Amino acid sequence: MTPEEYERWHVRNCARCGRRAAKSADWSDGPICRTCYERAMRVRGCCPGCGADRLLPGLDTGTPICRDCAGITRDFFCDRCGFEGLLLGRRLCERCTLTDSLARFLDDGTGRVAPPLHPLKTALLETDRPKSRLIWLRNPNVVRLLRGLAAGTIPLTHEGLDQEAPWRTVHHVRDLLMDSGVLPRIDRQILLYQRWLTERLATIDDPEHHRLLRHFTTWHQMRRLRAAAEKGPLGRSQTHQAKQETTQAGAFLTWLADRGRTVEHCQQADLDAWHTEKPATRRPAQTFLRWCMRTGRMPRLTLPPQVIAQDQAPLYQHRRLAMLRRTLNDDSLPLRSRVVAAFVLLYAQPVSRIVRLTIDDVTDDGTTITVSLGHPPSPLPEPVTDLMRAYVRSRQDLPYASSRSSRWLFPGRQPGQPMNPGSLQAHLREIGVPPQRGRTSAIRQLVLQAPAPVIAKALGYHEKTATRLVTEAGGTWSRYAPGDHSR
Ligand SMILES: [Zn+2]
Ligand SMILES: [Zn+2]
Ligand SMILES: [Zn+2]
Repeated sequence: MTPEEYERWHVRNCARCGRRAAKSADWSDGPICRTCYERAMRVRGCCPGCGADRLLPGLDTGTPICRDCAGITRDFFCDRCGFEGLLLGRRLCERCTLTDSLARFLDDGTGRVAPPLHPLKTALLETDRPKSRLIWLRNPNVVRLLRGLAAGTIPLTHEGLDQEAPWRTVHHVRDLLMDSGVLPRIDRQILLYQRWLTERLATIDDPEHHRLLRHFTTWHQMRRLRAAAEKGPLGRSQTHQAKQETTQAGAFLTWLADRGRTVEHCQQADLDAWHTEKPATRRPAQTFLRWCMRTGRMPRLTLPPQVIAQDQAPLYQHRRLAMLRRTLNDDSLPLRSRVVAAFVLLYAQPVSRIVRLTIDDVTDDGTTITVSLGHPPSPLPEPVTDLMRAYVRSRQDLPYASSRSSRWLFPGRQPGQPMNPGSLQAHLREIGVPPQRGRTSAIRQLVLQAPAPVIAKALGYHEKTATRLVTEAGGTWSRYAPGDHSR
């Protein structure tokens, strides 16, 4: 047929919208274009001509009427279910067509819908708008995903879906699988993290980096987050940490590539160099680095311990020592806070542990005071001894009788109870000492690694006193023999 013939036979001015277009039908009111035809196939109600409640495709001076009243010869009944509406190929209605499409895409290879996916099929068919589902099924990615899940080439798990792309399509299929109960619900924070991850990974050009990060996030992070989410809803801090780990992992890969090196050929010198600059920012990459080593993607190398890198150390050390010095020497600070701060700064004891100390844990033989922080009891270094004696004496002046008679070293206001760890933390913060456990272990490391003369000088004591301070303290410090301070 020539274009001219097509034009002559098929193209008309639509009786309903007036546009010049190929006609889809010729009804009593004239030629109808495709758009008006499909619109007419959705008009339902009570026909003013015959009173029947059915499809009203015809038009009588602007009023929709049924096919019979309009004298339309064609009928619109589905050959399978009898529904009157838009018929697609093989004279089936949209819903029957959708049923057939789903049966085809969800076939597990034996000619029937894969049993685990039955709830998904039911949910998809329950839609009010089968047409939008049919349009959705025209997306080749959707078809590939559904076929893969049905045939088992894509595992029917969250991990299985994590491996698939594009993420937006996967996200929607995952939602449907969760809504229909095929897959367990995922925590909201995890979903938000996944969305973030999708966008993040899309910005990575290097295919190898992309692959590594995708594996890391799927097999390490997502697994960890899901395990955590099983115990209860996740907080934002957990996914925030995961984001930082991923971001820094990506930064590491780029940085390493700039050095002309890949992960599998990464050397100790590379790792050391990576940690030299901006160590605090870069530390989150360590989760990725450990994973690479554990899974054989990277040679086994040494990660720096939780110590601040060389160029930062003096500052940190200086600050910790300044804190310790102030705690020991500043008489204007509350005595109780000073004692607790000394425990935190010298022994890296968590506040929750410190409040459990009793008077019986403190032994004073007149020369030395030992405290049962562990076994054996730790002797207090000299300057702290004076502080402790002063504190124990001051307990006699406590305002409450119950406190004076309490065996707790730090009695609380509630009779028989030790101080609340939270209020003790608040007291510490007031005098500028960070009470968190993570911080205190860093403090311990730094104080421990400083050579004795440095501590002595920093604290204003003789070198001999400081050496004793380190060696005498025992317990926590016993691993660090004198002479090993050069580390
Ligand atoms: Zn029209
Ligand atoms: Zn009628
Ligand atoms: Zn039907």
